[in-house]
Amino acid sequence: MHCAYHPDALAITYCARCGRALCKDCVVRLSQGNFCERCLSGISERRTRRPWGLYLGASIALLIALLLIARLFGT
Ligand SMILES: [Zn+2]
Ligand SMILES: [Zn+2]
Repeated sequence: MHCAYHPDALAITYCARCGRALCKDCVVRLSQGNFCERCLSGISERRTRRPWGLYLGASIALLIALLLIARLFGT
């Protein structure tokens, strides 16, 4: 069994997500299991980027709404 990314390196485990064979240089150990770096970047993108974008969009919309209300009652 050889690493999917390094054909000359001996694999020690499989990625829990894509099932590729991984050598000790490729494997990233997490509490959920062993992952390759490619899958890990996909996982972190899904988990962290979308919620932050939603919070940012919601807070900007709220700020604009507050400014409009303040202008309506200010004059
Ligand atoms: Zn993988
Ligand atoms: Zn490797």
